[in-house]
Amino acid sequence: MIPVFEPEILKEDISNVVKTLSRGELSGNFSSMITKFESEFANYSGCKYGIAVSSGTTALHLAIAILNLKKNSEIIISSCTNIATALACYHNKCIPIPVDSNIDTWNLDESEIEKLITTKTKAIIAVHFLGNPANMKVINKIAKKYKLVVVEDAAEAHGSTIQSRKVGSFSDIACFSFYANKTITSGEGGMLVTNNKKYERLLKLYRNVGYSKKRFIHNVAAYNFRYTAMQAAFCYSQFKRINKIIKRKIEIAETYRHYLRDLEEISFQKSPINFKNTYWMIGILNLSKKINKKIISKKLNKHGIDTRSFFLSILKQPCFKEIYKNKDLKTPRSDYLWNNGLYLPSSLNLKKNQIKYICNKIKSIY
Ligand SMILES: *Cc1c(COP(=O)(O)O)cnc(C)c1O
Repeated sequence: MIPVFEPEILKEDISNVVKTLSRGELSGNFSSMITKFESEFANYSGCKYGIAVSSGTTALHLAIAILNLKKNSEIIISSCTNIATALACYHNKCIPIPVDSNIDTWNLDESEIEKLITTKTKAIIAVHFLGNPANMKVINKIAKKYKLVVVEDAAEAHGSTIQSRKVGSFSDIACFSFYANKTITSGEGGMLVTNNKKYERLLKLYRNVGYSKKRFIHNVAAYNFRYTAMQAAFCYSQFKRINKIIKRKIEIAETYRHYLRDLEEISFQKSPINFKNTYWMIGILNLSKKINKKIISKKLNKHGIDTRSFFLSILKQPCFKEIYKNKDLKTPRSDYLWNNGLYLPSSLNLKKNQIKYICNKIKSIY
């Protein structure tokens, strides 16, 4: 079976963990590896401050937690996203308001945002789906008009750019994930980046159970979302070769595009001019009415090819049924992406002839 994704673990990654441990570094105050990774990753993302945490999910949770929003505040989010984006709102007693997708970019459709804004709306979380940057210029303009905080969910978009500027630098706070299948990984892990000194202080306070200068006096009820030195060492080692990793991801995407260029029944993710998609995963969207993603993935599976579908719209998640039952919301294009979108094997070690094989099978299904 050709898996959808297989992490690449090099000897140098393991040896950096061993070296870090040999220096006695484990976590928190006992680790220079974490602070080194934080400051270099922030710098890479065009931000002043980096705050490492235990996952992308906890990064998003903290980003909302420190805003101290009133109960039932509304937060506009991409509807086609990992459940973590919505959970960050939900667990902070806010209501995630999903905005429908754009059928070309597969990101949130900015032209749908303003209709959803009410007096309760306080923030927007924009997801850079599969590594394709959301249109932050437009989103920020709307946010400014209505005085909303902007958060980027960049969990899938390390190194993606808009006019050569990295995602993560377009918002008040941005969140990255280092989960096992993400662009760089420590198995679990995440990072927040910001240019706001006050946010940096609060994020560090809230990730570390609210320890204040006065030992064991806690002024806020916070969390333990700390990252460990072993994880930092492992991820930092990959971060050192992130340009190479991204280059390879783009090469893989271009190879798929090349072999499938004449297949009219599918479309690829599109980006506006000067937007650089780093292709965390390469997706295809079925356009044919005679077939859907279930049939395609089943048939590919028979040929030893693993696939994954895109995300189910947040609006359709069973766990949020109660929240949306009296709300007149719709996400038809996200539903279309769910029913017809698939991502294909995207591991760094994928060979050109394997991609060719996968593409030939896709063509033969149509
Ligand atoms: C992976 C992912 C997350 C969650 O990150 P974890 O590290 O798995 O908690 C959040 N948002 C998006 C868009 C993701 O792809």
